[in-house]
Amino acid sequence: MGEDSSIDRARYDFKKAMQEIVNLRGRGTELISVYVPASKQISDVTSYLRNEYSQSTNIKSKTTRKNVMSAIESIMARLKTFNKVPENGLVVFCGEISMGGDQTRMVQYVLEPPEPITTFIYRCDSQFFVEPLLDMLREKKSYGLIVMDRSEASIGILTGKKITLIKNFDSQVPRKHRQGGQSAQRFERLIEIAAHEFFKKIADNAEEAFLNRDDLQGILIGGPGATKDYFVKEGYLHHELQKKVIDTFDTGYTDEYGLKELVNNAAGALQDMDIMRERELIQRLLTEIRKERGGLSAYGEEQVRQLLVAGAVDTVLLSEGLNLKRIKITCSNGHVQEFTARKVPSKAQCDQCDSPVESVEEIDLVDHFYDLAETVGSKVELISEDSEEGEMLIQAFGGVAALLRFQVMI
Ligand code: ZN
Repeated sequence: MGEDSSIDRARYDFKKAMQEIVNLRGRGTELISVYVPASKQISDVTSYLRNEYSQSTNIKSKTTRKNVMSAIESIMARLKTFNKVPENGLVVFCGEISMGGDQTRMVQYVLEPPEPITTFIYRCDSQFFVEPLLDMLREKKSYGLIVMDRSEASIGILTGKKITLIKNFDSQVPRKHRQGGQSAQRFERLIEIAAHEFFKKIADNAEEAFLNRDDLQGILIGGPGATKDYFVKEGYLHHELQKKVIDTFDTGYTDEYGLKELVNNAAGALQDMDIMRERELIQRLLTEIRKERGGLSAYGEEQVRQLLVAGAVDTVLLSEGLNLKRIKITCSNGHVQEFTARKVPSKAQCDQCDSPVESVEEIDLVDHFYDLAETVGSKVELISEDSEEGEMLIQAFGGVAALLRFQVMI
């Protein structure tokens, strides 16, 4: 397995854990969040916590006091298992969460974040302090998009894999017939003035949309014909934005569809972006599917699992939208049943005998495939749902597909 794919997996696992943690609430101010940067010594954190522990004896509510103290104890015990803080730091969430009614449950999460933690944070609140981590999950890279000709322009933004239209407007540039009585020369002059005004309007709108975005990596400009090149060459854009222009690209349209065309046609320039990679993978899958006997393609959870175990899979394509679990139930007689479902059934029982269930294991379906792939040396690619191709993977192929090394008849 390549390094990239293990990074993706870490990010995926992290995202899953965050989805859970975000929604947890305490009954009082008793949920503790600790952010530890790599530069911090474990012993310093422990003495900080020891101090918080003695402070918490002053908490008035007896239940809250008890819960806070046991959470701090639990965090200190957990920190003892670390010799040093991991490379990106460490985040611990711990506390008694409300389960509805009078029910509560103690939870503890220890996370290694995908990006470095820079400052030490200790928080005690009725919910966990997750904002710094949510920031890390946000796609950071954006590209400004402009498609234009003399009659219409659209401004949009490409963030991660998502294209968003910000503004679309028409020009007042007269196009076809000049009115009677006007000289051809005067008409030409009017056209040029109107075009100039329109280009200024495009530049103003681009400034409004792009100038204050810290995450803006560059600007792509598209449209039919030479107008877009004239616009760039004449320097209509704000000078800060002008510097960010990556290139111009031909598109047939200047509306929202034109923005899509622009992103497609800029593929070469944006090769490092995930969207291109994901699209290419799904396009490859579709090309194979169209071949005789499905070529080197497979889809469907069961089919892909069998081929994977048989060593026939080059790359597994998994949708981030899967949201399924692989569940394994073992009874005291040793019967094992494995299946996929959204969650563990409330009354798990053996499907072969009446013996009580001895163990129920559950693992996220994506992790399950990662594990299988690792044992046979296949690659895994996670595909987001943000692109058309990504949507197709989940809707048409159930979210699980594969590119094969060789054809196998099952
Ligand atoms: Zn059984």
